[in-house]
Amino acid sequence: MATLKAARISIMAGRFTKLMSRPRRLVSVRASDHLLTRQISTEAESVASRLHKSGLLRTQGLIGGKWVDAYDRKTIKVYNPATGEVIADVPCMGGRETNDAISSAYEAFYSWSKLTAAERSRYLRKWYDLLIAHREELGQLITLEQGKPIKEALGEVSYGAGFIEFSAEEAKRVYGDIIPSPLADRRLFVLKQPVGVVGAITPWNFPLAMITRKVGPALACGCTVVIKPSEITPLTALAAAELSLQAGIPPGVVNVVMGNASDIGDSLLASTQVRKITFTGSTAVGKKLMAGSAGTVKKVSLELGGNAPCIVFDDADLDVAVKGTLAAKFRNSGQTCVCANRVLVQEGIYEKFVNAFSKAVQNLQVGDGFTEGVVQGPLINEAAVQKVESFLQDAISKGAKVLLGGKRHSLGMSFYEPTVISDVKGEMLLSREEVFGPVAPLLRFKTEDEAIRLANDTNAGLAAYIFTNNIQRSWRVSEALEYGLVGVNEGIVSTEVAPFGGVKQSGLGREGSKYGMDEYLEMKYVCLGNMNSN
Ligand code: ADP
Repeated sequence: MATLKAARISIMAGRFTKLMSRPRRLVSVRASDHLLTRQISTEAESVASRLHKSGLLRTQGLIGGKWVDAYDRKTIKVYNPATGEVIADVPCMGGRETNDAISSAYEAFYSWSKLTAAERSRYLRKWYDLLIAHREELGQLITLEQGKPIKEALGEVSYGAGFIEFSAEEAKRVYGDIIPSPLADRRLFVLKQPVGVVGAITPWNFPLAMITRKVGPALACGCTVVIKPSEITPLTALAAAELSLQAGIPPGVVNVVMGNASDIGDSLLASTQVRKITFTGSTAVGKKLMAGSAGTVKKVSLELGGNAPCIVFDDADLDVAVKGTLAAKFRNSGQTCVCANRVLVQEGIYEKFVNAFSKAVQNLQVGDGFTEGVVQGPLINEAAVQKVESFLQDAISKGAKVLLGGKRHSLGMSFYEPTVISDVKGEMLLSREEVFGPVAPLLRFKTEDEAIRLANDTNAGLAAYIFTNNIQRSWRVSEALEYGLVGVNEGIVSTEVAPFGGVKQSGLGREGSKYGMDEYLEMKYVCLGNMNSN
Protein backbone atom coordinates (compact mmCIF):
# COMPACT_ATOMS: atom_id res chain seq x y z
CA MET A 1 0.00 0.00 0.00
CA ALA A 2 2.83 2.38 0.88
CA THR A 3 4.14 2.20 -2.65
CA LEU A 4 0.78 2.96 -4.11
CA LYS A 5 0.03 5.74 -1.70
CA ALA A 6 3.24 7.33 -2.83
CA ALA A 7 2.25 6.97 -6.43
CA ARG A 8 1.72 10.00 -8.59
CA ILE A 9 -0.92 9.70 -11.19
CA SER A 10 -1.03 12.02 -14.13
CA ILE A 11 -3.71 11.93 -16.71
CA MET A 12 -2.96 13.62 -19.96
CA ALA A 13 -4.61 13.57 -23.35
CA GLY A 14 -5.07 9.91 -24.15
CA ARG A 15 -2.49 8.80 -21.65
CA PHE A 16 -2.46 7.46 -18.14
CA THR A 17 0.93 7.29 -16.55
CA LYS A 18 1.43 5.99 -13.07
CA LEU A 19 4.78 6.79 -11.55
CA MET A 20 5.49 4.60 -8.60
CA SER A 21 7.71 5.76 -5.76
CA ARG A 22 10.63 3.58 -6.81
CA PRO A 23 11.96 4.25 -10.30
CA ARG A 24 12.25 0.52 -11.04
CA ARG A 25 8.52 0.25 -10.67
CA LEU A 26 7.70 2.74 -13.35
CA VAL A 27 4.33 1.51 -14.56
CA SER A 28 3.26 3.00 -17.81
CA VAL A 29 -0.34 2.09 -18.44
CA ARG A 30 -0.85 3.67 -21.81
CA ALA A 31 -2.62 0.85 -23.62
CA SER A 32 -3.14 2.84 -26.76
CA ASP A 33 -4.51 6.12 -27.90
CA HIS A 34 -7.89 4.52 -27.64
CA LEU A 35 -7.58 3.51 -24.03
CA LEU A 36 -8.89 6.60 -22.42
CA THR A 37 -10.81 8.05 -25.29
CA ARG A 38 -13.09 5.05 -25.59
CA GLN A 39 -14.21 2.57 -22.98
CA ILE A 40 -12.86 4.28 -19.92
CA SER A 41 -12.82 7.66 -21.64
CA THR A 42 -15.18 9.88 -19.74
CA GLU A 43 -14.32 7.99 -16.61
CA ALA A 44 -10.57 8.12 -16.97
CA GLU A 45 -10.05 10.04 -13.82
CA SER A 46 -12.28 7.85 -11.70
CA VAL A 47 -10.75 4.66 -13.11
CA ALA A 48 -7.28 5.94 -12.38
CA SER A 49 -8.15 6.94 -8.88
CA ARG A 50 -10.02 3.69 -8.29
CA LEU A 51 -6.97 1.68 -9.40
CA HIS A 52 -4.89 3.79 -7.10
CA LYS A 53 -7.22 3.51 -4.14
CA SER A 54 -7.93 -0.18 -4.49
CA GLY A 55 -4.22 -0.94 -4.79
CA LEU A 56 -4.91 -3.21 -7.73
CA LEU A 57 -1.71 -2.50 -9.63
CA ARG A 58 0.45 -4.88 -7.66
CA THR A 59 3.91 -5.61 -9.08
CA GLN A 60 5.43 -7.84 -6.39
CA GLY A 61 4.93 -11.44 -5.36
CA LEU A 62 2.81 -12.34 -2.34
CA ILE A 63 4.34 -14.56 0.34
CA GLY A 64 2.77 -15.00 3.77
CA GLY A 65 0.63 -11.89 3.30
CA LYS A 66 3.61 -9.68 2.40
CA TRP A 67 4.35 -8.15 -0.99
CA VAL A 68 7.92 -9.05 -1.87
CA ASP A 69 10.51 -8.67 -4.61
CA ALA A 70 12.67 -11.49 -5.92
CA TYR A 71 15.38 -12.08 -3.33
CA ASP A 72 18.05 -11.21 -5.90
CA ARG A 73 15.93 -8.22 -7.11
CA LYS A 74 15.73 -9.63 -10.64
CA THR A 75 12.65 -8.65 -12.63
CA ILE A 76 10.83 -9.56 -15.80
CA LYS A 77 8.80 -7.27 -18.00
CA VAL A 78 5.11 -7.52 -18.69
CA TYR A 79 4.08 -6.25 -22.13
CA ASN A 80 0.90 -5.00 -23.71
CA PRO A 81 0.64 -7.34 -26.73
CA ALA A 82 -1.35 -4.75 -28.71
CA THR A 83 1.36 -2.08 -28.56
CA GLY A 84 4.53 -3.79 -27.42
CA GLU A 85 4.82 -1.33 -24.56
CA VAL A 86 6.11 -2.40 -21.18
CA ILE A 87 3.27 -2.27 -18.65
CA ALA A 88 5.27 -3.22 -15.55
CA ASP A 89 8.24 -5.07 -14.14
CA VAL A 90 7.46 -7.98 -11.85
CA PRO A 91 9.84 -10.10 -9.75
CA CYS A 92 11.64 -12.98 -11.40
CA MET A 93 11.40 -15.43 -8.54
CA GLY A 94 12.71 -18.96 -8.25
CA GLY A 95 13.15 -21.84 -5.84
CA ARG A 96 13.94 -19.88 -2.67
CA GLU A 97 10.87 -17.68 -2.85
CA THR A 98 8.73 -20.68 -3.77
CA ASN A 99 9.95 -22.62 -0.75
CA ASP A 100 9.05 -19.69 1.49
CA ALA A 101 5.62 -19.45 -0.14
CA ILE A 102 5.12 -23.17 0.47
CA SER A 103 6.12 -22.76 4.14
CA SER A 104 3.64 -19.89 4.52
CA ALA A 105 0.88 -21.92 2.92
CA TYR A 106 1.74 -24.90 5.10
CA GLU A 107 1.60 -22.82 8.25
CA ALA A 108 -1.66 -21.15 7.24
CA PHE A 109 -3.22 -24.52 6.43
CA TYR A 110 -3.39 -25.43 10.08
CA SER A 111 -5.80 -22.64 10.99
CA TRP A 112 -7.57 -22.22 7.63
CA SER A 113 -8.53 -25.88 7.47
CA LYS A 114 -9.87 -25.68 11.03
CA LEU A 115 -12.36 -22.92 10.22
CA THR A 116 -15.94 -23.99 9.76
CA ALA A 117 -17.16 -24.30 6.21
CA ALA A 118 -19.50 -21.39 6.89
CA GLU A 119 -16.57 -19.18 7.91
CA ARG A 120 -14.57 -20.05 4.80
CA SER A 121 -17.69 -19.48 2.74
CA ARG A 122 -18.05 -15.95 4.10
CA TYR A 123 -14.46 -15.07 3.21
CA LEU A 124 -14.95 -16.38 -0.30
CA ARG A 125 -18.22 -14.48 -0.68
CA LYS A 126 -16.45 -11.28 0.34
CA TRP A 127 -13.70 -11.97 -2.20
CA TYR A 128 -16.34 -12.53 -4.88
CA ASP A 129 -18.06 -9.25 -3.98
CA LEU A 130 -14.74 -7.39 -4.31
CA LEU A 131 -13.92 -9.02 -7.65
CA ILE A 132 -17.29 -7.90 -8.98
CA ALA A 133 -16.96 -4.43 -7.44
CA HIS A 134 -13.66 -4.08 -9.32
CA ARG A 135 -14.88 -5.72 -12.50
CA GLU A 136 -13.96 -2.76 -14.65
CA GLU A 137 -10.38 -2.37 -13.43
CA LEU A 138 -9.77 -6.13 -13.59
CA GLY A 139 -11.19 -6.21 -17.12
CA GLN A 140 -8.84 -3.40 -18.11
CA LEU A 141 -5.86 -5.21 -16.63
CA ILE A 142 -6.80 -8.35 -18.58
CA THR A 143 -7.04 -6.42 -21.85
CA LEU A 144 -3.79 -4.61 -21.11
CA GLU A 145 -1.65 -7.65 -20.48
CA GLN A 146 -3.49 -10.30 -22.48
CA GLY A 147 -4.94 -8.33 -25.39
CA LYS A 148 -8.49 -9.70 -25.55
CA PRO A 149 -11.24 -7.17 -26.35
CA ILE A 150 -12.48 -5.32 -23.28
CA LYS A 151 -15.97 -6.83 -23.62
CA GLU A 152 -14.51 -10.33 -23.50
CA ALA A 153 -12.24 -9.29 -20.62
CA LEU A 154 -15.19 -8.03 -18.61
CA GLY A 155 -16.94 -11.31 -19.43
CA GLU A 156 -13.92 -13.16 -18.06
CA VAL A 157 -14.15 -11.23 -14.80
CA SER A 158 -17.79 -12.25 -14.35
CA TYR A 159 -17.00 -15.83 -15.36
CA GLY A 160 -13.88 -15.98 -13.19
CA ALA A 161 -15.55 -14.42 -10.17
CA GLY A 162 -18.35 -16.97 -10.64
CA PHE A 163 -15.98 -19.74 -9.54
CA ILE A 164 -15.39 -17.92 -6.26
CA GLU A 165 -19.11 -17.40 -5.71
CA PHE A 166 -19.90 -21.02 -6.55
CA SER A 167 -17.11 -22.23 -4.24
CA ALA A 168 -18.44 -20.04 -1.42
CA GLU A 169 -21.79 -21.79 -1.79
CA GLU A 170 -20.39 -25.27 -2.31
CA ALA A 171 -18.06 -24.98 0.72
CA LYS A 172 -21.09 -25.75 2.88
CA ARG A 173 -21.93 -28.92 1.01
CA VAL A 174 -18.81 -31.02 1.49
CA TYR A 175 -20.75 -33.93 2.93
CA GLY A 176 -19.34 -37.13 4.31
CA ASP A 177 -21.20 -40.40 4.49
CA ILE A 178 -22.38 -43.11 6.89
CA ILE A 179 -22.13 -46.63 5.56
CA PRO A 180 -24.47 -49.36 6.89
CA SER A 181 -22.16 -51.62 8.82
CA PRO A 182 -22.00 -55.37 8.08
CA LEU A 183 -21.13 -55.96 11.76
CA ALA A 184 -23.48 -55.05 14.62
CA ASP A 185 -20.79 -53.61 16.87
CA ARG A 186 -19.30 -51.23 14.35
CA ARG A 187 -20.17 -47.89 12.74
CA LEU A 188 -18.56 -46.83 9.47
CA PHE A 189 -18.08 -43.20 8.47
CA VAL A 190 -16.56 -41.40 5.51
CA LEU A 191 -15.07 -37.97 6.14
CA LYS A 192 -13.90 -35.56 3.46
CA GLN A 193 -10.89 -33.47 4.41
CA PRO A 194 -8.73 -30.91 2.58
CA VAL A 195 -5.80 -32.38 0.73
CA GLY A 196 -3.33 -29.75 2.06
CA VAL A 197 -1.13 -27.19 0.32
CA VAL A 198 -1.94 -26.84 -3.39
CA GLY A 199 0.43 -25.64 -6.13
CA ALA A 200 -1.66 -23.96 -8.84
CA ILE A 201 0.09 -23.28 -12.15
CA THR A 202 -1.88 -21.26 -14.69
CA PRO A 203 -1.58 -20.01 -18.29
CA TRP A 204 -1.94 -16.57 -19.91
CA ASN A 205 -5.11 -16.98 -21.96
CA PHE A 206 -7.52 -16.43 -19.04
CA PRO A 207 -5.42 -14.48 -16.54
CA LEU A 208 -8.20 -14.43 -13.93
CA ALA A 209 -10.53 -17.35 -14.55
CA MET A 210 -7.83 -20.04 -14.66
CA ILE A 211 -6.80 -18.95 -11.18
CA THR A 212 -10.23 -18.60 -9.59
CA ARG A 213 -11.42 -21.97 -10.87
CA LYS A 214 -8.53 -23.58 -8.97
CA VAL A 215 -8.22 -21.37 -5.92
CA GLY A 216 -11.98 -21.11 -5.26
CA PRO A 217 -12.60 -24.80 -4.64
CA ALA A 218 -9.20 -25.25 -2.97
CA LEU A 219 -9.95 -22.59 -0.36
CA ALA A 220 -13.55 -23.74 0.04
CA CYS A 221 -12.32 -27.23 0.94
CA GLY A 222 -9.81 -25.86 3.46
CA CYS A 223 -6.64 -26.02 1.36
CA THR A 224 -4.12 -23.18 1.06
CA VAL A 225 -2.40 -22.29 -2.21
CA VAL A 226 0.80 -21.24 -3.91
CA ILE A 227 -0.21 -19.76 -7.26
CA LYS A 228 2.21 -19.48 -10.15
CA PRO A 229 0.54 -17.39 -12.83
CA SER A 230 1.97 -17.11 -16.30
CA GLU A 231 4.84 -14.61 -16.42
CA ILE A 232 3.13 -13.13 -19.49
CA THR A 233 0.02 -12.09 -17.54
CA PRO A 234 0.81 -11.85 -13.81
CA LEU A 235 -0.85 -8.48 -13.08
CA THR A 236 -4.42 -9.77 -13.02
CA ALA A 237 -3.37 -12.60 -10.71
CA LEU A 238 -1.69 -10.13 -8.36
CA ALA A 239 -4.75 -7.87 -8.41
CA ALA A 240 -6.97 -10.84 -7.55
CA ALA A 241 -4.59 -11.78 -4.73
CA GLU A 242 -4.72 -8.21 -3.41
CA LEU A 243 -8.50 -8.47 -3.32
CA SER A 244 -8.25 -11.76 -1.43
CA LEU A 245 -6.32 -9.89 1.28
CA GLN A 246 -8.86 -7.07 1.27
CA ALA A 247 -11.55 -9.73 1.74
CA GLY A 248 -9.81 -10.69 4.97
CA ILE A 249 -8.51 -14.06 3.80
CA PRO A 250 -5.64 -14.62 6.26
CA PRO A 251 -1.98 -14.17 5.26
CA GLY A 252 -0.44 -17.32 3.83
CA VAL A 253 -3.69 -18.80 2.57
CA VAL A 254 -3.09 -17.30 -0.89
CA ASN A 255 0.51 -16.89 -2.07
CA VAL A 256 1.71 -15.84 -5.52
CA VAL A 257 5.17 -16.41 -7.01
CA MET A 258 6.28 -15.86 -10.60
CA GLY A 259 9.50 -15.88 -12.54
CA ASN A 260 11.58 -18.87 -13.52
CA ALA A 261 8.86 -21.40 -14.36
CA SER A 262 10.92 -24.55 -14.15
CA ASP A 263 12.63 -23.54 -10.87
CA ILE A 264 9.27 -22.69 -9.31
CA GLY A 265 7.75 -25.88 -10.72
CA ASP A 266 10.64 -28.01 -9.44
CA SER A 267 10.30 -26.57 -5.92
CA LEU A 268 6.58 -27.25 -5.86
CA LEU A 269 7.17 -30.80 -7.11
CA ALA A 270 10.00 -31.55 -4.69
CA SER A 271 8.17 -30.34 -1.59
CA THR A 272 6.59 -32.97 0.63
CA GLN A 273 4.35 -30.21 2.03
CA VAL A 274 2.69 -29.61 -1.35
CA ARG A 275 0.06 -32.34 -1.60
CA LYS A 276 -1.57 -31.39 -4.86
CA ILE A 277 -0.63 -29.85 -8.20
CA THR A 278 -3.34 -28.32 -10.34
CA PHE A 279 -2.26 -27.14 -13.76
CA THR A 280 -3.71 -25.61 -16.90
CA GLY A 281 -1.39 -25.30 -19.86
CA SER A 282 0.40 -27.22 -22.55
CA THR A 283 0.34 -31.00 -22.73
CA ALA A 284 4.15 -31.12 -22.69
CA VAL A 285 4.45 -29.21 -19.40
CA GLY A 286 1.49 -31.12 -17.95
CA LYS A 287 3.27 -34.42 -18.60
CA LYS A 288 6.40 -33.08 -16.89
CA LEU A 289 4.40 -32.05 -13.84
CA MET A 290 2.63 -35.41 -13.72
CA ALA A 291 5.95 -37.26 -13.88
CA GLY A 292 7.49 -34.88 -11.33
CA SER A 293 4.60 -35.44 -8.92
CA ALA A 294 5.43 -39.13 -8.74
CA GLY A 295 8.41 -38.51 -6.43
CA THR A 296 6.16 -37.36 -3.60
CA VAL A 297 2.96 -39.04 -4.86
CA LYS A 298 0.94 -35.85 -5.14
CA LYS A 299 -2.63 -35.62 -6.25
CA VAL A 300 -2.70 -34.12 -9.76
CA SER A 301 -5.31 -32.30 -11.86
CA LEU A 302 -4.36 -31.39 -15.40
CA GLU A 303 -6.22 -29.36 -17.97
CA LEU A 304 -4.13 -29.66 -21.10
CA GLY A 305 -4.35 -29.00 -24.80
CA GLY A 306 -7.36 -29.81 -26.95
CA ASN A 307 -8.01 -30.40 -30.64
CA ALA A 308 -11.70 -29.60 -30.72
CA PRO A 309 -13.77 -30.83 -33.65
CA CYS A 310 -16.75 -28.72 -34.62
CA ILE A 311 -19.09 -30.92 -36.67
CA VAL A 312 -21.73 -29.32 -38.87
CA PHE A 313 -24.26 -31.85 -40.14
CA ASP A 314 -26.50 -31.44 -43.21
CA ASP A 315 -29.52 -31.13 -40.93
CA ALA A 316 -28.09 -28.22 -38.91
CA ASP A 317 -29.72 -24.82 -38.73
CA LEU A 318 -27.29 -22.80 -40.86
CA ASP A 319 -27.48 -19.60 -38.80
CA VAL A 320 -27.04 -21.44 -35.51
CA ALA A 321 -24.09 -23.39 -36.94
CA VAL A 322 -22.37 -20.26 -38.27
CA LYS A 323 -22.89 -18.32 -35.05
CA GLY A 324 -21.83 -21.24 -32.87
CA THR A 325 -18.75 -22.09 -34.94
CA LEU A 326 -17.71 -18.44 -34.99
CA ALA A 327 -17.92 -18.26 -31.19
CA ALA A 328 -16.20 -21.62 -30.69
CA LYS A 329 -13.37 -20.71 -33.09
CA PHE A 330 -12.67 -17.00 -32.70
CA ARG A 331 -13.16 -16.33 -29.00
CA ASN A 332 -9.95 -14.83 -27.57
CA SER A 333 -8.59 -14.82 -31.17
CA GLY A 334 -8.60 -18.61 -31.15
CA GLN A 335 -6.41 -18.82 -28.06
CA THR A 336 -8.33 -21.19 -25.82
CA CYS A 337 -7.96 -24.91 -25.36
CA VAL A 338 -11.66 -25.39 -26.14
CA CYS A 339 -11.50 -23.39 -29.40
CA ALA A 340 -12.72 -25.30 -32.45
CA ASN A 341 -9.52 -26.56 -34.07
CA ARG A 342 -11.13 -28.46 -36.96
CA VAL A 343 -14.43 -27.56 -38.60
CA LEU A 344 -15.89 -30.74 -40.13
CA VAL A 345 -18.73 -29.96 -42.55
CA GLN A 346 -21.02 -32.51 -44.18
CA GLU A 347 -21.04 -32.37 -47.99
CA GLY A 348 -24.74 -31.45 -48.36
CA ILE A 349 -24.39 -28.17 -46.42
CA TYR A 350 -20.72 -27.55 -47.23
CA GLU A 351 -21.01 -24.80 -49.88
CA LYS A 352 -23.76 -22.92 -48.05
CA PHE A 353 -21.91 -23.11 -44.74
CA VAL A 354 -18.56 -22.05 -46.19
CA ASN A 355 -20.11 -18.97 -47.84
CA ALA A 356 -22.05 -17.85 -44.78
CA PHE A 357 -19.20 -18.60 -42.39
CA SER A 358 -16.59 -16.80 -44.51
CA LYS A 359 -18.85 -13.74 -44.69
CA ALA A 360 -19.20 -13.73 -40.92
CA VAL A 361 -15.44 -14.11 -40.43
CA GLN A 362 -14.78 -11.24 -42.86
CA ASN A 363 -16.81 -8.96 -40.59
CA LEU A 364 -14.71 -9.63 -37.49
CA GLN A 365 -13.03 -6.38 -36.56
CA VAL A 366 -9.38 -6.71 -35.58
CA GLY A 367 -7.57 -4.21 -33.37
CA ASP A 368 -6.54 -3.03 -29.95
CA GLY A 369 -8.86 -4.59 -27.41
CA PHE A 370 -9.70 -1.18 -25.99
CA THR A 371 -11.11 0.06 -29.30
CA GLU A 372 -14.86 0.02 -29.63
CA GLY A 373 -16.21 -2.66 -31.96
CA VAL A 374 -13.03 -4.77 -31.92
CA VAL A 375 -13.72 -8.48 -31.47
CA GLN A 376 -10.28 -9.84 -32.37
CA GLY A 377 -7.28 -8.66 -30.37
CA PRO A 378 -3.63 -9.47 -31.04
CA LEU A 379 -2.11 -12.90 -30.49
CA ILE A 380 -0.20 -13.10 -27.24
CA ASN A 381 3.26 -12.70 -28.80
CA GLU A 382 5.44 -13.13 -31.86
CA ALA A 383 6.01 -16.83 -31.16
CA ALA A 384 2.26 -17.39 -31.34
CA VAL A 385 2.12 -15.72 -34.77
CA GLN A 386 5.05 -17.78 -36.00
CA LYS A 387 3.30 -20.95 -34.90
CA VAL A 388 0.19 -19.99 -36.89
CA GLU A 389 2.34 -19.17 -39.91
CA SER A 390 4.14 -22.50 -39.77
CA PHE A 391 0.86 -24.43 -39.51
CA LEU A 392 -0.50 -22.54 -42.51
CA GLN A 393 2.61 -23.11 -44.58
CA ASP A 394 2.43 -26.82 -43.80
CA ALA A 395 -1.25 -26.98 -44.84
CA ILE A 396 -0.76 -24.96 -48.04
CA SER A 397 2.23 -27.07 -49.06
CA LYS A 398 0.01 -30.14 -48.72
CA GLY A 399 -2.84 -28.76 -50.84
CA ALA A 400 -5.04 -26.66 -48.52
CA LYS A 401 -6.53 -23.42 -49.93
CA VAL A 402 -6.76 -20.09 -48.12
CA LEU A 403 -10.27 -18.69 -48.57
CA LEU A 404 -9.82 -15.68 -46.30
CA GLY A 405 -6.94 -14.06 -44.43
CA GLY A 406 -3.89 -16.27 -44.19
CA LYS A 407 -1.44 -13.55 -43.28
CA ARG A 408 -0.37 -11.06 -40.63
CA HIS A 409 -2.71 -8.13 -40.20
CA SER A 410 -1.69 -4.72 -41.53
CA LEU A 411 -1.82 -3.43 -37.94
CA GLY A 412 1.54 -5.17 -37.41
CA MET A 413 2.64 -6.39 -33.96
CA SER A 414 1.12 -9.81 -33.31
CA PHE A 415 -2.18 -9.10 -35.07
CA TYR A 416 -3.23 -11.83 -37.48
CA GLU A 417 -6.05 -11.82 -40.01
CA PRO A 418 -9.04 -14.02 -39.18
CA THR A 419 -8.49 -16.91 -41.55
CA VAL A 420 -10.59 -19.58 -43.24
CA ILE A 421 -8.78 -22.42 -44.99
CA SER A 422 -10.38 -25.27 -46.96
CA ASP A 423 -9.29 -28.69 -48.28
CA VAL A 424 -7.65 -29.47 -44.97
CA LYS A 425 -6.64 -33.12 -44.53
CA GLY A 426 -6.08 -35.31 -41.49
CA GLU A 427 -2.31 -35.47 -41.94
CA MET A 428 -1.80 -31.67 -41.83
CA LEU A 429 -0.50 -30.00 -38.66
CA LEU A 430 -3.72 -27.96 -38.56
CA SER A 431 -5.63 -31.20 -37.99
CA ARG A 432 -3.16 -32.83 -35.63
CA GLU A 433 -2.32 -30.04 -33.19
CA GLU A 434 -3.83 -26.92 -31.66
CA VAL A 435 -3.17 -23.90 -33.85
CA PHE A 436 -4.09 -21.54 -30.97
CA GLY A 437 -4.87 -18.71 -33.35
CA PRO A 438 -7.65 -17.24 -35.53
CA VAL A 439 -7.56 -19.95 -38.20
CA ALA A 440 -10.61 -22.05 -39.09
CA PRO A 441 -9.60 -25.18 -41.03
CA LEU A 442 -12.47 -26.74 -43.00
CA LEU A 443 -12.68 -30.48 -43.64
CA ARG A 444 -15.48 -32.08 -45.70
CA PHE A 445 -17.12 -35.38 -44.69
CA LYS A 446 -19.87 -37.63 -46.06
CA THR A 447 -21.35 -39.75 -43.26
CA GLU A 448 -21.95 -39.54 -39.52
CA ASP A 449 -19.60 -42.47 -38.93
CA GLU A 450 -16.86 -40.76 -40.89
CA ALA A 451 -17.33 -37.55 -38.86
CA ILE A 452 -17.05 -39.45 -35.57
CA ARG A 453 -13.97 -41.30 -36.77
CA LEU A 454 -12.27 -38.06 -37.88
CA ALA A 455 -13.27 -36.28 -34.69
CA ASN A 456 -11.86 -39.00 -32.44
CA ASP A 457 -8.67 -39.43 -34.46
CA THR A 458 -6.52 -37.49 -32.00
CA ASN A 459 -4.81 -37.93 -28.65
CA ALA A 460 -6.66 -34.91 -27.32
CA GLY A 461 -10.18 -35.05 -25.87
CA LEU A 462 -11.26 -31.79 -24.30
CA ALA A 463 -14.14 -30.08 -26.12
CA ALA A 464 -16.22 -31.00 -29.17
CA TYR A 465 -19.12 -29.22 -30.85
CA ILE A 466 -21.90 -30.57 -33.03
CA PHE A 467 -24.58 -28.77 -34.99
CA THR A 468 -27.67 -30.77 -35.89
CA ASN A 469 -31.43 -30.52 -35.53
CA ASN A 470 -31.82 -34.28 -35.26
CA ILE A 471 -32.39 -35.21 -31.62
CA GLN A 472 -31.38 -38.86 -32.02
CA ARG A 473 -28.19 -37.84 -33.81
CA SER A 474 -27.32 -35.31 -31.10
CA TRP A 475 -27.48 -38.06 -28.44
CA ARG A 476 -25.77 -40.67 -30.61
CA VAL A 477 -22.86 -38.42 -31.59
CA SER A 478 -22.46 -36.90 -28.12
CA GLU A 479 -22.09 -40.40 -26.71
CA ALA A 480 -19.64 -41.48 -29.40
CA LEU A 481 -17.31 -38.50 -29.09
CA GLU A 482 -14.25 -39.19 -26.92
CA TYR A 483 -14.30 -35.76 -25.28
CA GLY A 484 -14.89 -34.32 -21.83
CA LEU A 485 -17.28 -31.59 -23.02
CA VAL A 486 -19.74 -31.54 -25.91
CA GLY A 487 -21.62 -28.48 -27.11
CA VAL A 488 -24.75 -29.30 -29.10
CA ASN A 489 -25.90 -26.32 -31.18
CA GLU A 490 -23.81 -24.15 -28.86
CA GLY A 491 -20.26 -22.80 -29.21
CA ILE A 492 -19.65 -21.56 -25.66
CA VAL A 493 -20.22 -24.17 -22.98
CA SER A 494 -17.95 -23.28 -20.04
CA THR A 495 -19.63 -22.32 -16.78
CA GLU A 496 -18.67 -22.63 -13.14
CA VAL A 497 -21.66 -24.88 -12.44
CA ALA A 498 -20.66 -27.66 -14.90
CA PRO A 499 -17.64 -30.00 -14.85
CA PHE A 500 -14.83 -28.88 -17.17
CA GLY A 501 -12.02 -31.21 -18.15
CA GLY A 502 -10.70 -33.58 -20.74
CA VAL A 503 -10.17 -37.25 -21.50
CA LYS A 504 -7.20 -38.99 -23.16
CA GLN A 505 -4.17 -36.67 -23.17
CA SER A 506 -6.26 -33.55 -22.56
CA GLY A 507 -6.01 -34.11 -18.86
CA LEU A 508 -7.13 -35.51 -15.56
CA GLY A 509 -9.81 -34.30 -13.19
CA ARG A 510 -12.57 -31.73 -13.50
CA GLU A 511 -12.87 -28.07 -12.59
CA GLY A 512 -16.03 -26.26 -11.59
CA SER A 513 -19.30 -27.78 -10.35
CA LYS A 514 -19.76 -30.04 -7.34
CA TYR A 515 -17.44 -32.58 -9.01
CA GLY A 516 -14.55 -30.09 -9.03
CA MET A 517 -14.55 -30.00 -5.23
CA ASP A 518 -13.38 -33.61 -4.98
CA GLU A 519 -10.06 -32.64 -6.58
CA TYR A 520 -9.15 -30.83 -3.33
CA LEU A 521 -10.44 -33.43 -0.88
CA GLU A 522 -9.17 -36.64 0.60
CA MET A 523 -11.62 -39.29 1.71
CA LYS A 524 -11.10 -40.77 5.13
CA TYR A 525 -12.85 -43.91 6.29
CA VAL A 526 -13.39 -44.15 10.04
CA CYS A 527 -14.40 -47.45 11.60
CA LEU A 528 -15.81 -47.13 15.10
CA GLY A 529 -15.72 -50.48 16.88
CA ASN A 530 -16.74 -51.98 20.19
CA MET A 531 -20.13 -50.26 19.93
CA ASN A 532 -21.88 -52.78 22.17
CA SER A 533 -19.93 -51.89 25.32
CA ASN A 534 -21.20 -49.19 27.66
P1 ADP B 1 1.49 -22.05 -22.86
O1 ADP B 1 2.10 -22.57 -24.09
O2 ADP B 1 0.02 -21.92 -22.89
O3 ADP B 1 2.18 -20.86 -22.27
P2 ADP B 1 2.77 -23.63 -20.86
O4 ADP B 1 2.43 -25.02 -20.48
O5 ADP B 1 4.12 -23.36 -21.40
O6 ADP B 1 1.61 -23.22 -21.84
O7 ADP B 1 2.55 -22.64 -19.64
C1 ADP B 1 1.49 -22.77 -18.72
C2 ADP B 1 2.02 -22.43 -17.34
O8 ADP B 1 3.01 -23.41 -17.00
C3 ADP B 1 2.71 -21.08 -17.25
O9 ADP B 1 2.45 -20.51 -15.99
C4 ADP B 1 4.17 -21.45 -17.38
O10 ADP B 1 5.04 -20.50 -16.83
C5 ADP B 1 4.20 -22.74 -16.60
N1 ADP B 1 5.35 -23.61 -16.87
C6 ADP B 1 6.04 -23.76 -18.01
N2 ADP B 1 7.03 -24.67 -17.83
C7 ADP B 1 6.96 -25.09 -16.54
C8 ADP B 1 7.69 -26.02 -15.73
N3 ADP B 1 8.72 -26.70 -16.22
N4 ADP B 1 7.31 -26.19 -14.45
C9 ADP B 1 6.27 -25.52 -13.95
N5 ADP B 1 5.54 -24.64 -14.65
C10 ADP B 1 5.88 -24.42 -15.93
